[in-house]
Amino acid sequence: MQKLEPITDFAPITPTAAITPKTHGWRAKCLQRLVRLELPVPQTVALPATTVRAIAAGQTVDCEGILRNFGAGPLISVRPSPENPDWGGPATVLNIGMNAARHALLAQTHGIDAADALYLRFIQSYAIHVARLDPDMFDQAEASGEALRAALHAYREEMDEAFPEDPARQLGEVLRSMARAWEGTSARLLRQAKGAPEAAGLGLVVQEMAQGIGQGMSGSGVMQFVDPVTGAAQVTGRYFDQAGGRHAKPQAMYLIRDPRGPSLEDLAPEVFAQLVKHGAVCRVRLREEMQIEFTIEDGRLSVLDAVKVQRSSRAGLRIAVALADDGVITRSEALLRVEPRALSELLHPQVDPRGGRDRFVRGIPASPGAAVGRIVFSSQAAQASAARGEPCILVRRETAPEDIRGMNSAAGVLTERGGVTSHAAVIARGLGLPCVVGASELRLDAREKRLVAPDGRVFREGDIITVDGTAGEALAGAAAMLGPALDDNFRRLLSWADDVRDIGVRANADTPADAQMARNFEAQGIGLCRTEHMFFTDDRLVVMREMIFADTSEDRAAALVRLLPMQRADFVQLFEIMQGLPVCIRLLDPPLHEFLPHSREGMLELAEALDRPLSEVTRRAEALAEFNPMLGMRGVRLGVVLPEIYDMQAQAIFEATIEIARRGGSVVPEIMIPLVSAKREVELVKTRIDAVAAMVRTKAGTDFDYKLGVMVETPRAALRAGEIAQHASFLSFGTNDLTQMTYGLSRDDAGRFMNTYVQKGVFPEDPFHILDVDGVGELLHIGADRGRATRPDLTVSICGEHAGNPESIAFCRTAGFDYVSCSPYRVPLARLAAAHLAL
Ligand code: PEP
Ligand code: MG
Repeated sequence: MQKLEPITDFAPITPTAAITPKTHGWRAKCLQRLVRLELPVPQTVALPATTVRAIAAGQTVDCEGILRNFGAGPLISVRPSPENPDWGGPATVLNIGMNAARHALLAQTHGIDAADALYLRFIQSYAIHVARLDPDMFDQAEASGEALRAALHAYREEMDEAFPEDPARQLGEVLRSMARAWEGTSARLLRQAKGAPEAAGLGLVVQEMAQGIGQGMSGSGVMQFVDPVTGAAQVTGRYFDQAGGRHAKPQAMYLIRDPRGPSLEDLAPEVFAQLVKHGAVCRVRLREEMQIEFTIEDGRLSVLDAVKVQRSSRAGLRIAVALADDGVITRSEALLRVEPRALSELLHPQVDPRGGRDRFVRGIPASPGAAVGRIVFSSQAAQASAARGEPCILVRRETAPEDIRGMNSAAGVLTERGGVTSHAAVIARGLGLPCVVGASELRLDAREKRLVAPDGRVFREGDIITVDGTAGEALAGAAAMLGPALDDNFRRLLSWADDVRDIGVRANADTPADAQMARNFEAQGIGLCRTEHMFFTDDRLVVMREMIFADTSEDRAAALVRLLPMQRADFVQLFEIMQGLPVCIRLLDPPLHEFLPHSREGMLELAEALDRPLSEVTRRAEALAEFNPMLGMRGVRLGVVLPEIYDMQAQAIFEATIEIARRGGSVVPEIMIPLVSAKREVELVKTRIDAVAAMVRTKAGTDFDYKLGVMVETPRAALRAGEIAQHASFLSFGTNDLTQMTYGLSRDDAGRFMNTYVQKGVFPEDPFHILDVDGVGELLHIGADRGRATRPDLTVSICGEHAGNPESIAFCRTAGFDYVSCSPYRVPLARLAAAHLAL
């Protein structure tokens, strides 16, 4: 077989060398940029991915040729340079070229201790990474002449040959081992998990060592010009002073002047000033906050590398805004540099990533943010805890309307059952309360007041835990936390987003507190006010139940009379808060089971409140119970069967509208009919609402406008949208119910098997979480198209939980929807996601 010539495809990094991230990797490209900026980068040679691949396949490379770039007897390092820094790569090997002769020379120039330490470190890393010997044999020995001799001896014993002295051979072996490591199975799987393509290549960079040891001012460190957690402009990093003779070992030192001890700024002000200058140049020319790796040798600065500063979400946002403010990048680019999903993290306290995490169970992340508190197992205990001023975490099998009080008092919620659209999840998102649902591996014994984790750990009432609703995890003990970051940077970035986006963003808001939140997050109105949620407070729940439990129309009328002023006051408050922005109120849609007491205590409480015998309350509850309540007496069905309820709500809305006008404001309320499946339902409700409007106008002697629309939540409503739109000025897709009904999948129970379904690939994702574009999405298209064919000026929107997801927003924008309406805490994300789509 013909012997192949050694490969010579490598080149020194110069300003003009043909180097790209694709051919030579990001590190080589980045070093070239630093060279172009005239930073003091030591001589570097870049090997393209093609060369590295050939080396892995067994070809040799012209190591003598590489070494010729570095002058006489150099020490060099080899670092990985994949196309994308996230794809990992083999460990860097330093001090290649070290041997007995070089050791003797170094001992003369830098002292025997420094020479021993360098040689020992090189033998260790060569033995472990290149010769693949057991790391234990070369463990952490304190550098000394003795340790060095022992390491050389151990190498000879294991390898049956002396430690290689020839720098070219050392380099060849290092390159071969790094090239092969990249092709290994675990490295391949790891990078593919991070999105690397099958054929991802590895470049390598060979760089002359700048040791950072010497008699004069010497050392090494990394420096960045922002705080990686907050993003504030501030010098951070670390520096180790290694001036020979001054200290036996490298000494950690402050970078900037600090009263607690010596700093680089004090000891070497000129070098420090150069670093600051280089940092500023990098920021402007590389258009990014960079971390600079540097060494100082006898006062001479070398910049070895510069990488993008690793950063938290909050730092990422602040850095993007600052770069745009300084004209380094455009506002559009700043917007694109912030991931919409990262914003939800900033709205709530978060678990500090720098602290530890002792997770005891995983569940579904149902509402973002994190909270620390003592475990309570009932709403009463939560309220008592709140009264004592003690933050608590409400742990329940699942939640029901009775738990609203408890949820309101709790700092966070953890449930064993449920999915992303279950009661606990929807309410928690509305309240901005961190929540994990569907932690099905928990064993919960509320009576014994204990909780058993999958690993057998037992938690009792009063024990402190942390709920991380962002990650969907519960942690033992109190994790370290970071506060929310709704600062000026946040607001400004979102105002830039509003300047470019072309789809509206409203909020789902049921209470004045929600509406206030919607305003704070600058929603363009309320897209869904679920009126049944207005009755989830203690006193009102009783009246509501009284109304639901009423046997006769007189009893119902009596309850409605009491509900009317409450509703009117609610609407006045909502309109006031929203100051003329549109408010879309959905008529009552109470899945009855959510309003029935479940336990004996609940029945008893209700019997007392209604002043009726327990037996009667129980009988009535049984009579109202439905086998499949989500498909039962809900939504417009209630309005058709018991029209007085919608009459009352319409009257309250219109009277509130007049009250706002009397106060000098103005509002055009939007009234929305839920769970429609037939045109006739709309006709029946519309006729009565128009009649109520006429009655209120006459009584008040004043006029007002309103809009009537339909919520499309059943497949039939989507299919018949053409005729339904004859009576509707807007259609809003309730994709929670529409998903439930399209799949025939209960939104309250699907959590139990959803994981298995997703794991087995039956569904690509939980369709309650990520809109099913193929099925439900087709219904959305059909509904919007048929509706608009009838009425070209029809307003079309989405208000299910999907409305807060970037993917769904993209779908709705493409389908020409006018707006999305999501929970207030998703509004910022939706505003930014919509801007990304328009850019
Ligand atoms: C829906 O079904 O998508 C919706 C918004 O209504 P709800 O969640 O109240 O049923
Ligand atoms: Mg619905």
